[in-house]
Amino acid sequence: MIETGEFDFENRLVSPREIETDIPEEQDYNLRPKTLSEYIGQQAVKENLSVYIEAAKRRGEPLDHVLLYGPPGLGKTTLSQIIANELGVNIRITSGPSIKKPGDLAAILTNLERGDVLFIDEIHRLDSSVEEILYPALEDFAVDIIWGKGAAANSVRLDLKPFTLVGATTRSGQLTAPLRDRFGVIARLELYTPNELCDIIVRSAAILGIACEKEGAMELARRSRGTPRIANRFLKRVRDFADIMGNGVITKNIVDMALDRMEVDELGLDKMDKRLLEMLIKGYGGGPVGLDTLASAIGEEAVTLEDVCEPYLMQLGFIARTPRGRCATDLAYKHLGCERVGKSPTENGQLTIMPED
Ligand code: ADP
Repeated sequence: MIETGEFDFENRLVSPREIETDIPEEQDYNLRPKTLSEYIGQQAVKENLSVYIEAAKRRGEPLDHVLLYGPPGLGKTTLSQIIANELGVNIRITSGPSIKKPGDLAAILTNLERGDVLFIDEIHRLDSSVEEILYPALEDFAVDIIWGKGAAANSVRLDLKPFTLVGATTRSGQLTAPLRDRFGVIARLELYTPNELCDIIVRSAAILGIACEKEGAMELARRSRGTPRIANRFLKRVRDFADIMGNGVITKNIVDMALDRMEVDELGLDKMDKRLLEMLIKGYGGGPVGLDTLASAIGEEAVTLEDVCEPYLMQLGFIARTPRGRCATDLAYKHLGCERVGKSPTENGQLTIMPED
């Protein structure tokens, strides 16, 4: 039996995006690292960025435009604020869907000071008419303002002060080629290791004044799906259990008990992940099955599954992407206690595993 019924997918406790019950992150400003040295993990990205930032500062020029991509909750917004902070400039934060008209973007661009950072989250969701304004802005630091229509149309080119665009997206393949080509620095953020997440939890606990044993932090880290946003959310939830059911200290036992109650298993999987894996295994014989088919079978949007569920299930090695669709691996069968009939199509050489985009 595959469990069906409504899930509040957007507000899952294991969602890497902000959920309704989270304290809005702008009010939780303290938890965000402010400098590259406070920013835990993502070593390669940090090392490269620190060189580019230092070089730009020495030359007295704005930093090249930066594209950050990777699943939600990994620290793209945080990193853009750090870039501005390390450069000693102002940052203007906006997002693709909130810039509705070309004029809205032109107004933002003309208000930037020399060297400022403009952060556009979900940059792949910019309207194409808005995106066109961005091309000359990125290349020539200019915007073309057009008014009137047809033969009566007039245009004027306004110079902008040189600035740095930091764009964020969940997958770089979602961007149009002309936009992607205008970024000088393209950095992919990876899911964090449990050790890195443990360091993030210990840091956040110290800032929030929460007593947390190392073993408790490590157990939280193991269940946080490689994502700092989830780690911080769990920390705050588990603190309540520690206060009410323990002596205020987060221990491994408290974490086990709290996350069991929150229906998050020892790998950080919830009902929704299990439903997805069960559909793949029991509904489609372990795959291969197309993402769209799988998504409609469980009543979710394909893009949500791809951005929100898959990265972690792939990191665990539970799902493999093949040219013919998604396959469940032997590890997934084992975790769900299911028996595979025959060999897996990726292991007997029938299908090759594709790398992530
Ligand atoms: P994204 O923009 O990728 O969705 P955010 O930058 O909003 O992610 O990060 C989510 C939360 O995770 C932030 O509140 C921040 O405190 C925390 N965080 C992210 N990356 C790190 C890191 N490398 N070290 C410490 N905390 C981090």
